[in-house]
Amino acid sequence: MNKLNIYYCPNCKNVGIAYGKAQIECCGRKIEPVAIEKENTIPTITEMDGEYLLEYACPMTKDDFIVAIVVERYDRVGLIRLFPEQAAEARVAQVKGAKIYTVFCRQGKVWAELMK
Ligand SMILES: [Zn+2]
Repeated sequence: MNKLNIYYCPNCKNVGIAYGKAQIECCGRKIEPVAIEKENTIPTITEMDGEYLLEYACPMTKDDFIVAIVVERYDRVGLIRLFPEQAAEARVAQVKGAKIYTVFCRQGKVWAELMK
């Protein structure tokens, strides 16, 4: 399968997902995929009713917040949007082999971290 790419428009805060080399444009501009790094920000993970509750130590201000959590499964991709002033947490299904990407925005820099 092609590599998953995550796109973020700094203008309208839109988040997109595409596989392989896609030409993504938003607000009249071409958008490059965000860098995907190894996990650096480790959430607290709590098992709950067949789901994981992920809680991050993130201030969730407009200069330092989590944009989205992307869950890539063998058969589907889920996108959970988060916004400044919200709690830095999300619930995801417990699925073996799922890859979880957390997309951060800090002082305008946007990147994703792939959970181990
Ligand atoms: Zn846009």
